Amino acid sequence: MSIATSALGFPRIGPRRELKSALESTWSGKTDSAALLAAAKDIRAANWLRQKKLGLSIIASNDFSLYDQVLDTSVMTGAVPAIYGWKGGDVPLDVYFAMARGAEGISTVCEHGHVHADSHTVGGVPAMEMTKWFDTNYHYIVPEFTADQRFSLSSSKPVDEFLEAKALGVHTRPVLVGPVTFLKLGKAKTGDFDTLSLLTRLLPVYAEILQKLHEAGADWVQIDEPVMVLDLSDTERAALKAAYAELVKAAPALKILVATYFGALDDNLDTAVALPVAGLHIDLKRGSSQIDAVLKKAPKELVLSLGVIDGRNVWRAHLDAVLDRIEPVVKARGEDRVIISTSCSLLHTPIDLEQETRLDFDVKSWLAFAVQKIEELNVLSRALSHGKKDVASALEASSRAAATRRTSPLIHDPKVQARLSSLTPAMTKRAPFSLRREAQRQAFHLPAFPTTTIGSFPQTSDVRKARSANAKGEITAAQYDEFLKSATKDAIRWQEEIGLDVLVHGEFERNDMVQYFGEQLSGYAFTQHGWVQSFGSRYVRPPIIFGDVSRPKPMTVSWSSYAQSLTSRPMKGMLTGPVTMLFWSFVRDDIPRSETCRQIALAIRDEVNDLEAAGITMIQIDEAAFREGLPLKKSGWKDYLDWAVECFRLTSSGVKPTTQIHTHMCYSEFNDIIAAIGAMDADVISIETSRSQMELLDAFKSYKYPNEIGPGVYDIHSPRVPATEEMSALLNLASTRLAPDQLWVNPDCGLKTRGWAEVKPALVNMVEAAKKLRETV
Ligand code: GLN
Ligand code: ZN
Repeated sequence: MSIATSALGFPRIGPRRELKSALESTWSGKTDSAALLAAAKDIRAANWLRQKKLGLSIIASNDFSLYDQVLDTSVMTGAVPAIYGWKGGDVPLDVYFAMARGAEGISTVCEHGHVHADSHTVGGVPAMEMTKWFDTNYHYIVPEFTADQRFSLSSSKPVDEFLEAKALGVHTRPVLVGPVTFLKLGKAKTGDFDTLSLLTRLLPVYAEILQKLHEAGADWVQIDEPVMVLDLSDTERAALKAAYAELVKAAPALKILVATYFGALDDNLDTAVALPVAGLHIDLKRGSSQIDAVLKKAPKELVLSLGVIDGRNVWRAHLDAVLDRIEPVVKARGEDRVIISTSCSLLHTPIDLEQETRLDFDVKSWLAFAVQKIEELNVLSRALSHGKKDVASALEASSRAAATRRTSPLIHDPKVQARLSSLTPAMTKRAPFSLRREAQRQAFHLPAFPTTTIGSFPQTSDVRKARSANAKGEITAAQYDEFLKSATKDAIRWQEEIGLDVLVHGEFERNDMVQYFGEQLSGYAFTQHGWVQSFGSRYVRPPIIFGDVSRPKPMTVSWSSYAQSLTSRPMKGMLTGPVTMLFWSFVRDDIPRSETCRQIALAIRDEVNDLEAAGITMIQIDEAAFREGLPLKKSGWKDYLDWAVECFRLTSSGVKPTTQIHTHMCYSEFNDIIAAIGAMDADVISIETSRSQMELLDAFKSYKYPNEIGPGVYDIHSPRVPATEEMSALLNLASTRLAPDQLWVNPDCGLKTRGWAEVKPALVNMVEAAKKLRETV
């Protein structure tokens, strides 16, 4: 016997995205739900058997989901909003998917898996709101509660899946989203009440499911309470205590492990160690410094699950270093009081590195995906229980990888480092906005309420087909180039025709706003199969930033120059900002994120300067992920915002006062970052606002934001074409909050997911709305 190992959850999408195929084929009516359920069952079986074969001793069940584990919890507890027409009993599959996607099943999200706000379908029943799971790129379906909410056990999924695994000979530890986390992540739909006030009504459902799991043969259950790494109030801490006191009573023979992750417990540590439960999981990757405090305070009998293998990133662990840290813990607590674990569920990592055949040999040797991480746990456990000799070659390989990573010229670029150490404050300074504004007015002579778009135009099937034909070598590079040029030319002609003031080239050449740049930068790697679930059946393949980032050559200059050569109107150069490049990638863990961000900032700064030199007079630097970078605890905000703002300014400050810097952020909560946006000091910012009736401009108003703003007047998440009057009304609302000469007129976000049939009339109406408004001033 070796010391126990566990993964808090395993990726559910299947090594070849089997779940996506099964879901989408069922949604489109090609196959029936029985086929979907069978495919899901196969994935679960394969996952359990694989983990067992890898030697993992504690394997999770109920970590699988057809869509999302938080939605599963809403369904399990009967928290199904009335509009879905559920009448009690087990919640049927079509109700489940209606909650996830709306009854029409039209997905209305604008990015490839990046959701910035709630998505709703048009007509039929809307989908429930979706938002980010803590600071990950995974999105959950936000639970909705009414003040008179009733809960009832409405799904036997946790028990069914436990029994399913048992039948395969795998004794699992079922996972549940904890009651406090569930309520805290939910939203009060009617009236203004604290969702935690529903706890006493909710707990009997949890008690029932725990009893059923016990009857089914479970001895341990993992209850996830990641809210314990957030700033909690005394009431919230009291709720945790009350909840677990009751749950332990409900199923006294069942051992509960409370799992906390994505950070350290800090102020909630006393609460955590006082919970009357049998086990506590702590994140020692993000919260490595908490180990001493936890050891000091944890009662002797408490089983500690040590999250030492990173569930959020793709790096191979340096096992010897990990052993040095945990050996004393095991000694102090005893082998049967410690579990060696992943820091969080492996849901956030790709599945199997062995599927990657094109990665650089060295880069590959530095990585570990879900399967490899479980192998690492195995090595750790054997080393702890049987001595290092037992796993000498594995430890050696891990140390060798760590050593080459520390010194590899693939990673460490002296030129990048020299540049970083020679940064000066002047590099983040531009002339004051008032001067720039004057200079730009002289240079551009734009009308009042200038009209523009955010960058991308529809990525129609033609565009996608041409891209894939080019990738497969079915057309020549020259043919592909011709195709892109003609698409760009058409888009420019059309923008001129309808009278837009500031044009874009349409981004037809881009597969994705991060990947397109990552592929052209040094220090970035891309996988073939490294998919990670973003939400439902949408998966993303985040690039891996493995080394010092630099720009070997200009990335967008030829496209922007070509586009500008076709028109006399200003053509915005279009770039993705450093913060967004950082957050939508897997990031190095050997240097601070801020440092990687500065490297990217310098690379993009070069591009900005080259665009200017090529005659591009307006440059947009998109920072779609700026807000989501905010740390989970408020105490970390200032530091983050300081370096994030600095990186943006580093990117944007190398140009003349007459060059107009735009930025774009596609979401609608600015209160927490308004001062940072002010400090970014972009000449123009475009933001998402159409669905909030311009209310979020209040943040800009009370901050007295001086620069120019384009509040989105056209909701691009929906195929609906907004009428001129609607957009005029929104613009009028905007002018009550901001000075008319600050305002631009544009859609909420890029138009790549829309069709030309909607985009054309919508933009014609938008230009019309701006013209009408000009007549009134
Ligand atoms: N320029 C990008 C586009 O229009 C911006 C996308 C985004 O912010 N999500 O597609
Ligand atoms: Zn956007």
